[in-house]
Amino acid sequence: MSQPIPTVTFPDGHAVPALGLGTWHMGESRASAATEIRALQAGIDLGMTLIDTAEMYASGGAEEVVGRAIAGRRDEVFVVSKVMPSNASRQGTIAACEASLARLGIDRIDLYLLHWRGRHPLADTVNAFEELRVSGKIARWGVSNFDSLAMRQLAALPGGRSCAANQVLYNLSTRGIEFDLMPWMTEHEMPLMAYSPLDEGRLMRHPGLGKIAKRLGASPAQLALAFLLRRENVIAIPKSASSERVAENRAAVDIALSPADLAELDGLFPPPRSRQPLEMI
Ligand code: NDP
Repeated sequence: MSQPIPTVTFPDGHAVPALGLGTWHMGESRASAATEIRALQAGIDLGMTLIDTAEMYASGGAEEVVGRAIAGRRDEVFVVSKVMPSNASRQGTIAACEASLARLGIDRIDLYLLHWRGRHPLADTVNAFEELRVSGKIARWGVSNFDSLAMRQLAALPGGRSCAANQVLYNLSTRGIEFDLMPWMTEHEMPLMAYSPLDEGRLMRHPGLGKIAKRLGASPAQLALAFLLRRENVIAIPKSASSERVAENRAAVDIALSPADLAELDGLFPPPRSRQPLEMI
């Protein structure tokens, strides 16, 4: 029996599992939808009850898959979705959120993110997020792909300090955020959502990682996730359309990494020594 999944707490006190489920590339074909729904439901059954999606994924198709996966059990899950920057005007954000709610089949999104920064003034998006929060269509809001400078600019805006999370690319191969963004977020007690925690599957083919994983009796995916889960403020959202791999990822919580294991990982995947531009997919 696996250990319980550790939790991460948002600034408003709401706690979520530190290991959730990604959905990019889901909903792209009718043929794969049933398998994807089964994988998401397997994850929910195992306690991975945070589901990350976006209006962009399969042009709304991923949100529809999520809607089908959570039908009848909405209260068990924490739904994260995202507005595309091109829609992130004051009115556009509200319309995009309403369309996402309809595809998801729910009346409130638990965390609504700006997918990345675009041409619309950030202040307009923040105003729209606050309006959505007051009207109950979202419970809280955040951003994605924001570097530490963008986080500071956001925090300086009226209402900007209500930001609940920042979702960024973070995995063993991409550690630049450890230098400045992660310390900023820790200082502000804001959860960091790590997307592509398996480097989109590439980490599974890393020979050095495979070797360490074998010694620990784990799979490379489990080791890559355990590396992220040891951080108190990080929520990892691996995507898998396979129920077996979802279960494998869930068991990453059972892996305890010693200082020697972490030093070995640092040797293979060196931490940043200076500020680096934020990488994104
Ligand atoms: P991940 O790092 O989660 O890797 C997903 C890939 O790894 C898939 O090909 C999957 O294949 C494979 N995989 C999953 N588990 C295992 C396993 N145990 N063993 C072997 N292979 C495995 O990449 P994503 O880019 O999907 O990132 C995760 C989520 O983060 C996304 O789905 C999305 O929700 C979010 N995201 C957010 C972004 C943003 O800009 N905010 C950008 C990118 C992602 P299979 O499905 O066949 O198992």
